Amino acid sequence: MRFETKAIHSGRSIDKSTSSVTMPIHLSTTFERAADGSYPNEFVYSRESNPNRHALEDCLTSLEEGYDCVTFASGMAAITSLIEALPADKPRRVIMPNDMYFGIHSLLWETDIGSKFDIVIVDMTNLHEVEKAIKSAPTGLVWIETPSNPLLKVIDFEAVTKIAQQAGAYTVADNTWATPVLQRPLTLGVDFSIHSVTKYIGGHSDLMIGAVVARSDSPMLTNLRAWQHSKGAVPSPFDCWLALRGVQSLAQRMMTHCANASEIADFLDYHPNVGAVHYPGLSNHPGHHIAARQMSSFGSMLSFQVKGGQREAMAVAAKVQLVTRATSLGGTHSLIEHRASVEGSTTMAPPNLLRLSIGLEHVDDLKEDLSQALEEVK
Ligand SMILES: *Cc1c(COP(=O)(O)O)cnc(C)c1O
Repeated sequence: MRFETKAIHSGRSIDKSTSSVTMPIHLSTTFERAADGSYPNEFVYSRESNPNRHALEDCLTSLEEGYDCVTFASGMAAITSLIEALPADKPRRVIMPNDMYFGIHSLLWETDIGSKFDIVIVDMTNLHEVEKAIKSAPTGLVWIETPSNPLLKVIDFEAVTKIAQQAGAYTVADNTWATPVLQRPLTLGVDFSIHSVTKYIGGHSDLMIGAVVARSDSPMLTNLRAWQHSKGAVPSPFDCWLALRGVQSLAQRMMTHCANASEIADFLDYHPNVGAVHYPGLSNHPGHHIAARQMSSFGSMLSFQVKGGQREAMAVAAKVQLVTRATSLGGTHSLIEHRASVEGSTTMAPPNLLRLSIGLEHVDDLKEDLSQALEEVK
């Protein structure tokens, strides 16, 4: 089956007891045991497994062309579990890129994760830095995020994976921003692909789930499954049901998301009040050629720097009428955000940077709105 078909059918079938075409929501927390002690339908207790969660995990496995998927209550629960699932015989050293999702910075600096692991931050667009870091000490895990947040840096999956594998380290890609429509890290040798399902896969800003899809069986995958069952940060059946509804239109939504974003990037690139536009689809973007090779399109996240400083950028965000001032991404509504003020004093985001999640509105309406918001910036 092709991607679009799998998005609709994988993990699901017509319900045998009612013939319902869409899957029912299985809210029951517990499942009956047969007289002989067996469980006729594999389900026992919803923390361990639930029909809606099972269907979502099957579907995401198939879309990422992986071996298995483990879901969690949020993207951050998936990320924390993955880092902690590093098997005991692996070095507790993790190499991470210098531009990545801010929630991971918070996880490292505000919780005990940062002290339990030796975290090494490198510019992963520079392969010499990756090699130097990996050769300087035994490493357990290499973390890839591409395109990255908020500067849309592009990392070469195959090159980084090769370096990591030679050193015996696991690799993981945060594939939230690209989705398996645009890139499939597991087919390029990456061991785990991680998602905040909350974003494009759910697609409508109304659910919270995290997922890890594994390329093959491994002690790390065994740990992850145990973490899910026993630590218990599982997604609700309703959220899984919503994700399975959303994922059915993922391929079609991504096409419009990408087409809109590409047009907005061009518009901003020519705008006299905009200094820099960070979008891998622009031919002047430093990662454009790598993105063109490993992605089928360039995504719908972009950031741009307003000429001036924080005051000018905040003024643009204050003036938008249609685009919504809110954090997050991947939904139908276009969102704008001044990252530096959201992230606080430890931010690395330039003060004049605004991040856009381009939604599914008509692109001309979006352009008109951004155009009026940028008009008077001096
Ligand atoms: C949102 C996001 C996360 C965290 O996911 P939650 O579902 O909010 O916990 C992780 N990585 C990226 C790239 C994200 O955009």
